[in-house]
Amino acid sequence: MSEQQLQFQEKLHDGWAQTFGIKNVLFESKTDHQHLIIFESVSFGRVMALDGIIQTTERDEFIYHEMLAHVPLFAHGEAKDVLIIGGGDGGLLREVLKHQNVAHCTQVEIDQAVIDMCVEYLPNHSAGAYDNPRANIVIDDGINYVQNCDRQFDVILSDSTDPIGPGEVLFTSPFYEGIKRCLKPGGIFAAQNGVSFMQQDEVKTTKQRLSPYLADTHFFTAAVPTYVGGIMTFAWGSDNTAARNVPLETLAARYAESGIKTRFYNPAVHAGCFALPQYVVDAIEG
Ligand code: SAM
Repeated sequence: MSEQQLQFQEKLHDGWAQTFGIKNVLFESKTDHQHLIIFESVSFGRVMALDGIIQTTERDEFIYHEMLAHVPLFAHGEAKDVLIIGGGDGGLLREVLKHQNVAHCTQVEIDQAVIDMCVEYLPNHSAGAYDNPRANIVIDDGINYVQNCDRQFDVILSDSTDPIGPGEVLFTSPFYEGIKRCLKPGGIFAAQNGVSFMQQDEVKTTKQRLSPYLADTHFFTAAVPTYVGGIMTFAWGSDNTAARNVPLETLAARYAESGIKTRFYNPAVHAGCFALPQYVVDAIEG
């Protein structure tokens, strides 16, 4: 990286950070809720960051979006109604709508500007999903929506920012209480939950705060290169305690039948993703 090259350095961890070489900045502005930047990077394609924290890149977004969508949806097997909280870049909506049995997907995003700028500068993420008649987009704070909505969902996915700023409320007990309220019996909740090696407290607090509302709470993982520091954890919650242990043959049959093409997710990865390293087990069993 030549000296005069523009650089973006992430502001998430104390005394340690990843840096991106910038080819050019495509958009940068303070929105009603956060600072938004989208830039063309040297090595990860187009990249979006909010409040100095990397949200998504064109090169590795498929890993995160495929796992957060397909693990809960193939575990459920017949989800018709899905709710997404956050997810303004549209990558998760894209993956959810690949499931033809999903008749309806509501996405509740707090910041219209994130959706608009990602459709314009990161079009491959949503890939037209925002125009899909099965998609219903609501601009609102996720906690407000789950505390007041009058419908229930088979699967609820929280694709939020970290528990800082507008995303903080999405890691609280009142939010999880709202999730319980909006889940159909046997429904599944999954949520981004940070990089466990660097954000261990997030694993502990989520376990403590989610457990009172759902019979089975756990985590699954995947390594996403630009969520630096090791494996990304996804929170899992359901009253259907069998949903986390769907046999590999059943997952393989559902995957084959769906005809969905993936680049990271597959039934074997699914079957193994709930196996947690000991330091995470120790953290959640405290
Ligand atoms: N995958 C990313 C990660 O793991 O860090 C998250 C990406 S997604 C762009 C995060 C979205 O959550 C943003 O569009 C942000 O505006 C939205 N968001 C943050 N707080 C929210 C809230 N309280 N209600 C709804 N959406 C929220």
